[in-house]
Amino acid sequence: MISGTRGTVIKNKDLSQVTWLRVGGPADLFFMPADIEDLIKFLKMLPNKFDIFPIGVGSNLIIRDGGIRGAVIRLGSGFKNISFEKNKIVVGASALDAHVASKAADNGLDLTFLRTIPGSIGGAIKMNAGCYGSYVEDFFVSAKVINRSGELFELSSKDMKFSYRQCNLPQDCIILEATFEANYGNPEALHLKMKNQLVKRDETQPTKERTAGSTFRNPSGFSSTGEIDDLDDFKAWKLIDDAGMRGATCGGAKISEKHSNFLINTGTATANDLESLGEQVRKSVFQKSKVKLQWEVIRIGETNL
Ligand SMILES: Cc1cc2nc3c(=O)[nH]c(=O)nc-3n(C[C@H](O)[C@H](O)[C@H](O)COP(=O)(O)OP(=O)(O)OC[C@H]3O[C@@H](n4cnc5c(N)ncnc54)[C@H](O)[C@@H]3O)c2cc1C
Repeated sequence: MISGTRGTVIKNKDLSQVTWLRVGGPADLFFMPADIEDLIKFLKMLPNKFDIFPIGVGSNLIIRDGGIRGAVIRLGSGFKNISFEKNKIVVGASALDAHVASKAADNGLDLTFLRTIPGSIGGAIKMNAGCYGSYVEDFFVSAKVINRSGELFELSSKDMKFSYRQCNLPQDCIILEATFEANYGNPEALHLKMKNQLVKRDETQPTKERTAGSTFRNPSGFSSTGEIDDLDDFKAWKLIDDAGMRGATCGGAKISEKHSNFLINTGTATANDLESLGEQVRKSVFQKSKVKLQWEVIRIGETNL
């Protein structure tokens, strides 16, 4: 069906291997293109019956136990480029946020907020990732994107219509590369800032566990600012605590004792355990506070094979 591509094509790929939560059934097709030309070739050959689903490093995904009927596309080493021109940074979509933040700091540019977010640039843009008061949208200039038909185009910040943890990029478009604009800073001071942020994360979040970060969006409409006046009212973790769900379990899934907006795979969880526990949390929070929590973690795929 697909031949002549230079990248890796795998049938029935076990997706639990490529998500942070280590759950998920198989993808009908899994493709890691060698470069843009290779991806264009693949998309043009891919029969119409296949939907495509781009993934980054799977740090914000629950892939259901039945897997994905379609083609999962993951950009690899051919999309990790990083280059600098004055205060502009051009970066490939598979580059890791942490690496980009570090390289930017070396070059005297402040993208420090990316240092503690464990995803890739493609995932960060799609999710308008952010923390400590900064979001992708604050630095984003444009992105090079490809659609399901293999056509390339450029999207500006205006086109992306960023909002809290989302943008309006269609699900079947793949971000290939992006340009950011950052403020100048002293490299040493930027590295120190990132070091402090890492310490803060480790103190407050279960960073060594299998999680997908914040499970639900904060009803307040923003992520942590790191400021003293960052009130807890209307933070998802506070509502979950008030509903008595900290530490709750379902099969191998658990609500973290350290941070109650984090779902953990304790080792044996299925995607169904994780999603069911998340739904129990939503129900309990609604009963207690009349707030309908919205999932921040993207849940995709079939419940059963
Ligand atoms: C310990 C931990 C801490 C976290 N802290 C934060 C935080 O502080 N702030 C925050 O915002 N998030 C946080 N997250 C969540 C997660 O890291 C971010 O959402 C991240 O941006 C997801 O990137 P990814 O590469 O893992 O994307 P994935 O999880 O693989 O995918 C997420 C979404 O992005 C899309 N996507 C991925 N790559 C592309 C691409 N190239 N083109 C088009 N679409 C694409 C996918 O289709 C999917 O819809 C945390 C997660 C963990 C595990």
